[in-house]
Amino acid sequence: MFNDNDIITKAAKLDIEKIRSDFPILQTLVYGQPLVYLDNAATTQKPKSVLKVMDEYYKEYNSNVHRGVHYLSQKATDAFEVARRNVQAYINAKHEHEVIFTKGTTESINLVASSFGKRFVKAGDSIIISAMEHHSNIVPWQLMCEERGATLKVIPINQKGELLMDEFEQLLDETVKLVAVTFVSNTLGTVNPVKEIIDKAHAQNIPVLVDAAQAIQHIGIDVQYLDVDFLAFSGHKMYGPTAVGVLYGKEKWLNEMPPYQGGGEMIKTVSFKKSTYNVLPFKFEAGTPNVTEVIGLSVAIDYINATGLDYIREREQQLIHYAIDGLKSIAELRLIGEAKERAASISFLVGNTHPFDVGEILDKQAIAVRTGHHCTEPLMDIFKIPGTVRASFAFYNTEEEVDKLVKGVKKAVTLLS
Ligand code: PMP
Repeated sequence: MFNDNDIITKAAKLDIEKIRSDFPILQTLVYGQPLVYLDNAATTQKPKSVLKVMDEYYKEYNSNVHRGVHYLSQKATDAFEVARRNVQAYINAKHEHEVIFTKGTTESINLVASSFGKRFVKAGDSIIISAMEHHSNIVPWQLMCEERGATLKVIPINQKGELLMDEFEQLLDETVKLVAVTFVSNTLGTVNPVKEIIDKAHAQNIPVLVDAAQAIQHIGIDVQYLDVDFLAFSGHKMYGPTAVGVLYGKEKWLNEMPPYQGGGEMIKTVSFKKSTYNVLPFKFEAGTPNVTEVIGLSVAIDYINATGLDYIREREQQLIHYAIDGLKSIAELRLIGEAKERAASISFLVGNTHPFDVGEILDKQAIAVRTGHHCTEPLMDIFKIPGTVRASFAFYNTEEEVDKLVKGVKKAVTLLS
């Protein structure tokens, strides 16, 4: 099935072994067999450096930020604000106060839907999303549209799982107040032409939010080059901890938008008559933030930078194409999503089997994949399927693991047919 060119060189293999040793969980045995972790789109594993810095924070300088004059609080605040600058550099934001810490992509999108909606959306207006959005880039807009009497418009896709850009242009009219699209589909792996989307929307003065939950760990993102208005992503999908994420927003929008939540930190003055609000980014960071997680995220970014996004992308592209070739050798297998530009997720169905049954058989072989609708129910309706089996890759996966996946799926076909 595979030729010599597909076999990675010894040097590259040594690198992979070193990389894999950075992630303690990858040495885990499941049912007595080495774990094959192919559920990276759901969450990625964490390198030792991230685990270490979070442990150190609690052991050595656990303290609340921005509030204390004492040594520990100053140290925690410094680490927290260094993290903000690290995120700023990672996405090339113009100002550090354009980086808002949230608890993840979901909260970042809810923040924009709620706050932007209150300020800029009225009855009769509309928001554009796409047919391949994750529920967290659908439901917040539905809630906001319902509240404000606006409507949701959807960019359709073709059978390969690519956006129909001509149809997108048709949807851009004077009622549209914002376009919200995913950079990479978590289900199909499609990489969308976000720069083109942004340019087309901006030509009509419409701002764009990009859901980068499945892009930030695979593709270098420069928010100034993209000229994107809002960018949302989660720490746990980029080798960082859970419960931390980022909303990048252009200063001009964030300054005009009202606070999302009220509480400590986000205020300048409070009286029973009226409160005034803090400057950016604190206006959108009410309450004690997730200090440990923010510091962990910063170290995850250091890890990505040290590994190199170019290397990560190249390795993942090799793995995806190797996996697609291997999976395509199974006659009963049908790929769901065959976009030309794709990142690390591969969805498929085998014969008439239910994805859940395939997932269970793979699990017994210590292969962790995801089955179901992947929080993209409308997309499943379009393909008229109940769900898919999804294998999603990270640069620490190997060709040997892909071979195990292919072998495992073949076994599932035999057992289930
Ligand atoms: N958008 C996409 C494309 C995703 O894949 C996910 C997570 N699966 C989310 C949004 C939501 O991310 P979180 O649950 O970390 O908020």
